[in-house]
Amino acid sequence: MKLDANALRYLTKDDFRVLTAVEMGMRNHEIVPAELVDRIAGLKHGGTYKVLRNLLKNKLVHHDATKYDGYRLTYLGYDFLAIKTLVNRGVFASVGRQIGVGKESDIFEVATEDGTVLAMKLHRLGRTSFRAVKSKRDYLRHRRSFNWLYLSRLAALKEFAFMKALGDHGFPVPTAVDCNRHCVIMSLVQGYPLVQVKELQNPDDVFDTILGLIVRLAEHGLIHCDFNEFNIMIDDDEKITVIDFPQMVSVSHRNAQMFFDRDIECIYKFFNKRFNLTSEKNEEQDGSESDGEGNTRPSFLSVKKTAGSLDKELAASGFTRKEQVEMEKYIDEDAEGHDSGSDDDDEEEEVGDAVPIDSLRIDQDHNDEPDCNLASRDSGVPGSFSEEHGTSCSGENRLESSPSGRNGDAKEPLESEGKMLSQEDEDNDDSLSDDDEEEKDAELTKKLNKQRKKAIAAAHGRRRPVSSRNAYKDKGKGTMNSKIQRQACKW
Ligand code: ADP
Ligand code: MG
Repeated sequence: MKLDANALRYLTKDDFRVLTAVEMGMRNHEIVPAELVDRIAGLKHGGTYKVLRNLLKNKLVHHDATKYDGYRLTYLGYDFLAIKTLVNRGVFASVGRQIGVGKESDIFEVATEDGTVLAMKLHRLGRTSFRAVKSKRDYLRHRRSFNWLYLSRLAALKEFAFMKALGDHGFPVPTAVDCNRHCVIMSLVQGYPLVQVKELQNPDDVFDTILGLIVRLAEHGLIHCDFNEFNIMIDDDEKITVIDFPQMVSVSHRNAQMFFDRDIECIYKFFNKRFNLTSEKNEEQDGSESDGEGNTRPSFLSVKKTAGSLDKELAASGFTRKEQVEMEKYIDEDAEGHDSGSDDDDEEEEVGDAVPIDSLRIDQDHNDEPDCNLASRDSGVPGSFSEEHGTSCSGENRLESSPSGRNGDAKEPLESEGKMLSQEDEDNDDSLSDDDEEEKDAELTKKLNKQRKKAIAAAHGRRRPVSSRNAYKDKGKGTMNSKIQRQACKW
């Protein structure tokens, strides 16, 4: 079933208000009682119920009357909330075509007001492996925090924090622009996943560069954990960009050595198979770590000695130790799950109702709030997140905040502490924050604005000319660049 992709254009303030109310209700309810939604949204004359019907029609919410009359967000509803927030912030103005489908994500092009094309990654944890999630749900039954929104938001927050830190330390990664809920905005990489590349001019150099990156990462205290041909982008000049960071771990992780070796092994295998690398490097492939000649396969133990502290910096930043542990629990369960680069078993209606958003165009509503209150928003700024409302990638406590509320628990309608949206809130989904928080974070607001501008400018600087020398890498579908250009024109 396909959504009218233009739905977002026609959604009213009340629609967003009610959608936000459902999101808030999901802090404590897997299925939010309709009365609670009504109470949070605070629309007059039973308006909430009418709006809910509209949201349901557009598949932004799912109706569940099993235990009581209730609703929950679909992934699409969650997408729209994140998109709306980011558009209001001025991060981008329109959404274009889908450019990637990851194991647990969808990637779209988005364009800023001035036409800069960026990449938007929507995390979809629990989508491709919903059966696994179900079993995890049993395993995690007692943990209030387990929730697909929560996990997806954690993944986005982590990805954003890591991408930003890696970029700041000179690693070739996309520029981290912004993040909200389960959505990360980054610069668009002008290249192709290595897996699509059949030929390289200098496979030895590329191989060395890639291995060097794994080692340098470990020297900085980090292991990618999914370092393979699907997560390495390469451009016409054979320049490498690494993507996809939610699964990264510290070198102090108990399985660090195994993850490190696995990353190295993936690269050896791929280059051997695809480029038939016959250099002495590859002769070590099946053997031990060292051939006694000094030209050895990178060894985790020797790297670790010089380990830096990026992992500690990150642990002290926006992505906290607790969140790392939460993610790792999920990742560990999924340990074998290496990137397949495609998502072919999208079976689980129940979680996401993931619907393609084709050429979705959002008309910026200039009557929207001036969006001056960034204080409570998520950002890449460490330790700055508001715990008050649920609109950000951070503030993860929101799903755990009620001592009595457990996901899936059917509370009596209206029993919950659902906070009513004030009328001034309008559809500003940042408006759910606490005033005190706002003041406290006023300085942060400035920083965030600066950072965003810088990031967008940096992303801008990375754009490359339209033509691509590597048309063959595009599998005959026309070059990536030309497609982007065409699309950008439409916008
Ligand atoms: P997942 O975590 O689901 O594997 P990825 O981050 O690896 O998602 O992205 C999936 C695909 O989307 C990539 O293989 C790549 O083709 C595309 N992609 C992701 N990020 C970007 C980007 N910044 N620029 C261009 N393409 C991207
Ligand atoms: Mg990937």
